[in-house]
Amino acid sequence: MEEALGLLQQHGDDARVIAGGQSLVPAMNLRMATPGMLVDLAGIDALSALDVAGDGSLIAGAMVTHNRFLRDDRVSSGWPAIGYAIRHVAHEQIRNRGTVGGSLCHADPAAEWAAVCLLLDAEMQVMSRDGERTVAADSFIKGVYDTTLAPGELLSRIRFPAPLRGWCWGFHEIARRHGDFALAGALVGLGVDENSVVTAARLVVFAVEDRARRLDAVLSDIVGRGVAEIDGELAGLSAAAAIDPRSDLHASAELRSHLVHVCVMRALAAAMERLPGVRN
Ligand code: FAD
Repeated sequence: MEEALGLLQQHGDDARVIAGGQSLVPAMNLRMATPGMLVDLAGIDALSALDVAGDGSLIAGAMVTHNRFLRDDRVSSGWPAIGYAIRHVAHEQIRNRGTVGGSLCHADPAAEWAAVCLLLDAEMQVMSRDGERTVAADSFIKGVYDTTLAPGELLSRIRFPAPLRGWCWGFHEIARRHGDFALAGALVGLGVDENSVVTAARLVVFAVEDRARRLDAVLSDIVGRGVAEIDGELAGLSAAAAIDPRSDLHASAELRSHLVHVCVMRALAAAMERLPGVRN
């Protein structure tokens, strides 16, 4: 770690960290990135640790691969939303090499990790030769391929708070082909009490604006009501009205708006299928 941080400080803007290489190497092939110095994090064991801390939170080193999360029983039982979303990242081979830290630092607006971190209120630990700082998920990504990281800094680990009791989660994304980046996606979390009343609700949409966004206000109407009263159609329409979707060569803003409506409806339905006592 000392050596990596020293090289990053010494070479400043000219240095790039390489993690799984699944986004950086294609960018270098296309000459979209031409770093003079690559700092490979693969040999730093601390960055590959995946642990549950004493307070019940999940601490993931930045170099933990997508597939390690998917194969970890502690993750699937405590933080199931991670699995629901991350199995949609690319293909098996890419998930074997690509890392959570690489995905967050690459900051593609369609990346599932940024959405999961927002939904679960994750915190990012950032390190440099000058020390460490903690950044909330909402502040880590600033825009398309743009993060809060300054030259000389690297993302060392991500902390996911302890599992929430009585919560269920739903995910839905729409991509042209399985493994492609999503054209739109949504993640929903519902806190439900023993009387089947919704006590809290979270919503994240991604792949539609320049970064993933929490839209809990869209679901505020369902808080305090019974789950049987949840109107998915209305929630989908409200989410579509709350976003400012971008157009690119993959989809127009109008199409993305429609897809958000559909994704929110389906993510909500998926969460309700997993209500505690039903199938959780
Ligand atoms: P790298 O490619 O090694 O690095 C990416 C960037 O992050 C670089 O700028 C690098 O300098 C920086 N970086 C990496 N780690 C750190 C760190 N710890 N601190 C500071 N900077 C760091 N992703 C999705 O989310 N969803 C998809 O559907 C999807 N589909 C894909 C399809 C294809 C065909 C391919 C090739 C990739 C796809 N990806 C997708 C991207 C994939 O998830 C990558 O694994 C991920 O974006 C980058 O992770 P990496 O570890 O390979 O990072």
